[in-house]
Amino acid sequence: MFQSACPACGAPVAFRSATSVMAVCAYCQSTLLRDADSVRDVGKMSAVLEDYSPIQITSEGRFEGQHFSVVGRIQLRYDGGFWNEWYLWFDDGSTGWLSDASGQYVVTRPSTQAPEHVPLFDRNHPGDRLGFDRATWTCADVREARCTGGEGELPMRVGEGWLARVADYRSGHRFLTLDYSDGDKPTVYAGKSVTVDALQKERLRSPEQIAEKAGRLPGSLNAVACPSCGAQLNYLAAAAQHLVCPQCQSEVALEGDKAAVLAAHRSVEAVETTLELGAVASINGTKWQLIGLMRCREDASDGESWTEYLLHHAHKGFKWLIETTDEWHIVSVLDNWPDAATSQVRVDGRVYTKMYDYRRTVTFAAGAFNWRVKVGDRANVSEYKSSNQHVTAERTENELSWSYGSQISSQTVAQWFKDPSIAAGLVDGTASTLAAARRARIKEEGGWTSQGFALLFTIVLLVLNVPLLIAGYGEIGVTFFGLLALWAPVSSNSWESD
Ligand SMILES: [Zn+2]
Ligand SMILES: [Zn+2]
Repeated sequence: MFQSACPACGAPVAFRSATSVMAVCAYCQSTLLRDADSVRDVGKMSAVLEDYSPIQITSEGRFEGQHFSVVGRIQLRYDGGFWNEWYLWFDDGSTGWLSDASGQYVVTRPSTQAPEHVPLFDRNHPGDRLGFDRATWTCADVREARCTGGEGELPMRVGEGWLARVADYRSGHRFLTLDYSDGDKPTVYAGKSVTVDALQKERLRSPEQIAEKAGRLPGSLNAVACPSCGAQLNYLAAAAQHLVCPQCQSEVALEGDKAAVLAAHRSVEAVETTLELGAVASINGTKWQLIGLMRCREDASDGESWTEYLLHHAHKGFKWLIETTDEWHIVSVLDNWPDAATSQVRVDGRVYTKMYDYRRTVTFAAGAFNWRVKVGDRANVSEYKSSNQHVTAERTENELSWSYGSQISSQTVAQWFKDPSIAAGLVDGTASTLAAARRARIKEEGGWTSQGFALLFTIVLLVLNVPLLIAGYGEIGVTFFGLLALWAPVSSNSWESD
């Protein structure tokens, strides 16, 4: 370990890894370059944006049997959002990166080998195949991202605006990153996707510690006003970075407690859906919340439309529920990538045969998403089937993703959501019956979008504030006006809708 004092503020600065060339002073944000046995102040680094990651500098864990410490991080932003790259220092002196994109984790380490034929950065396209280490790899995404902040120690000199150019490839559970940030000859990193549990991490941030910095507990229910039209947008903290306003279809980015409009769209007619934002499904004893929904249409003159619902669970991540005119499917992201060289793919020992290739367009979106969604988004879809199970490849300009799904009965969906009208509506086969049943249900219970949500939020506010009030620290006015502000727009909304 190399230790020095920050030239700007005098605070101690430690370099644990011998390969670190730079550190950000934890006290004054000065960027310090290591120079033999001294450090040089080369300007200020922007503070990292407080997010909900449980990882922090000083967290520890194990990867492939080896112990590591988290010693630094950079935050990178691209047009679809931002993610963290945590710099890892292993006990044997080697290093690695833990990529952390809203709960999706990948560990990669510098590779001594490189693929025989490495394309130039611009020649990587999602779906491209590459031979490396006795396997065929498929290009998953290609992106340019800018560094927006950093902390701790880092192996290269980065500053605000530093441009990362990377192409990621997948093969089975394995992960390959070609990093072109230094030029046309990429640095190669190899690794795999992991869960935070599999890393046996220690010294993670507790939900309370996250809330102290980020302002709210991960998973707590929150609301912001749409910056474009003022409608109330509800979201679960830590579940998503992107919101689509159900009223005006504006794309809204969430950052800390701020909401910014990314793009406003010509408002499209609201779509009636069987399931509503905020609905809760109990699947095998686990509660999943419906946080986002979108309508898609196949790009063909007689193209069908269907609805995709995004379900979220704080630890288990995301699932999709898909409703076509006559079927339901439950879908998860596939981490074990097949090689789609022929019309058949093999996943976990099962062979799936290609059934369809088509192009689809998003025609309506509402709620919260873990990526940027907008009306007009297009993707090429390939569907492979094996009896009532299927795997699907979805490719956009910058990304390819695989998912796995199985068909389920409307009775199952009805049970999950404790709503018999779902099964009845589909058996009946008439959308109007379903819509009528749904309207009746909303009248009875109040949707998440109105009173039900306000009531829940009020309870949360009271639970949070009452102990403070009792202890004498609280400002009763704040709680009162908070509640007033919460109920006022809801009341006026119900006036309008009635
Ligand atoms: Zn300092
Ligand atoms: Zn709006």
